[in-house]
Amino acid sequence: MTEAIAAAARWQSCAIVEVATGTPAIKSFFLRLSEPFDYTAGQHVDVRLTAPCGYTAMRSYSIASAPSDSKVIELAIERLPDGEVSPFFHDVAQVGDTIELRGPLGGHFLWPGLPTNQCS
Ligand SMILES: Cc1cc2nc3c(=O)[nH]c(=O)nc-3n(C[C@H](O)[C@H](O)[C@H](O)COP(=O)(O)OP(=O)(O)OC[C@H]3O[C@@H](n4cnc5c(N)ncnc54)[C@H](O)[C@@H]3O)c2cc1C
Repeated sequence: MTEAIAAAARWQSCAIVEVATGTPAIKSFFLRLSEPFDYTAGQHVDVRLTAPCGYTAMRSYSIASAPSDSKVIELAIERLPDGEVSPFFHDVAQVGDTIELRGPLGGHFLWPGLPTNQCS
């Protein structure tokens, strides 16, 4: 296992540094990574919430921000009314809270340098 793969599998603590409302159902959460990583368009992270009793819930979210040197990534999360994790983000999570996250994950990639109309 390469170091990059091992690092992506490790959980890290992230602070919510900003919350922005996109639409009534979608909020963007900006998370400061304690262990910054490189990623490409299309990759996602796993987020893990742990209740005081030890119960955990894990969900995947695409990284909505463009790759850069920033230590902050954006997750755009839609609120599902009967969901478990997305309502927590919309109704409970605040700036300053920390959550656990691992990634980047996912093998989707773009051929570098190909024009966007290559297949038309
Ligand atoms: C690779 C990947 C990337 C993703 N990226 C994003 C993203 O960028 N943004 C985003 O918003 N989401 C994304 N998702 C979806 C996300 O992971 C969650 O599935 C989503 O947020 C819902 O989680 P939840 O805990 O709120 O809902 P859940 O609790 O998982 O429930 C989901 C739905 O199923 C219903 N449900 C739950 N339990 C039952 C049951 N027993 N019987 C019948 N119905 C039930 C709920 O009512 C709800 O409508 C992504 C998923 C994957 C796999």
